[in-house]
Amino acid sequence: MIKRRKTKAVMVGAVKIGSGAPVVIQSMTKVHTTDIEKCVKQINRLIEAGCRLVRIAVPTRADTEAFAKIVQKVKIPLIADIHFSPQRAIEAIEAGAAKIRLNPGNIKEQRDILRIIDAAGMHGTAIRIGVNEASIRNLKVMDIPFSRRVSVMLAEMKKYVRLFEGRKFTQIVLSAKSSDTLRTIEINRLISETFDYPVHLGLTHAGLAEDAMVPSAVSLGTLLAEGIGDTIRVSVAGDPVGEVEIAKQILLSLGLCEHLRPELIVCPTCGRAEIDVVALARRVKRAIEKIDRPLRIAVMGCIVNGPGEAADADVAVCAAKNKGFIYRRGKKIAVVSAKQIIGAMLKELKNL
Ligand code: SF4
Repeated sequence: MIKRRKTKAVMVGAVKIGSGAPVVIQSMTKVHTTDIEKCVKQINRLIEAGCRLVRIAVPTRADTEAFAKIVQKVKIPLIADIHFSPQRAIEAIEAGAAKIRLNPGNIKEQRDILRIIDAAGMHGTAIRIGVNEASIRNLKVMDIPFSRRVSVMLAEMKKYVRLFEGRKFTQIVLSAKSSDTLRTIEINRLISETFDYPVHLGLTHAGLAEDAMVPSAVSLGTLLAEGIGDTIRVSVAGDPVGEVEIAKQILLSLGLCEHLRPELIVCPTCGRAEIDVVALARRVKRAIEKIDRPLRIAVMGCIVNGPGEAADADVAVCAAKNKGFIYRRGKKIAVVSAKQIIGAMLKELKNL
């Protein structure tokens, strides 16, 4: 069981981040914000996939106007993504952003940062303070050796936290990002040792889904296993629903969220299998996709090791040549022909 690090609580609308609350999955829309209909549709798909906070880019005045309308049309709190414009930050806060993502290093004048903090305080908007390795303020990142970058990022973060606290603003979530797996782990360990604010975990520019999955799981998974991290975003070039699916897999594998749908266990197959295990598993996966209960279902390729490995499953099939042995919670209950396997498994699932 993972012992989560205790932090302050930060409310993002009705969603609590930190202070022992479940790790919050967030993602970001990838359509133009001014295309309100497409934006709302993507947010609803993200909600259905398990996402609890969605961030939206607001680079122009037209985007913050669209943001105000999108806030009214969706059921979850929205985060506005601010880059260089203090004006966009103020507009997004007034438009109903529950949180804004701000890299103070991107805002030229300190008085503008203070203006944003005061507006957020007035509207009850939380702020994620971001320090990215690629945009360390006033420094040419390429001139800083890798070995020093983490300490420079920590120093930047300390400076910003002091600035926010000096303004009596504590609804802050901290994020320090790098595209390097080990530096992501290192900086987040330091951030969580130094501050008691909730931490947002992410790996920047992680790549296409197939390339991003492993580095994201390694960096975020390592930190989460140490109890670090209160909200996560997996960055993937592609459909944001894929980001949520990977984030969910990371949390499930660490026992940090519960299965709400069936979990399919499939043996890796080997020379003992006498059927196409992968094809059978894909058929089972399609057959159970509408079930919304947390069940364990196993597809095993033989009766030598299969029954033992599937003993924890609610329903399992151990396939043999042209037939399948159906098990319910470790007990053999039927032997059916290959064609009847799916039907027999569904019948057992229904009986449970
Ligand atoms: S269950 Fe059977 S077929 Fe599958 S990997 Fe194990 S031994 Fe091989």
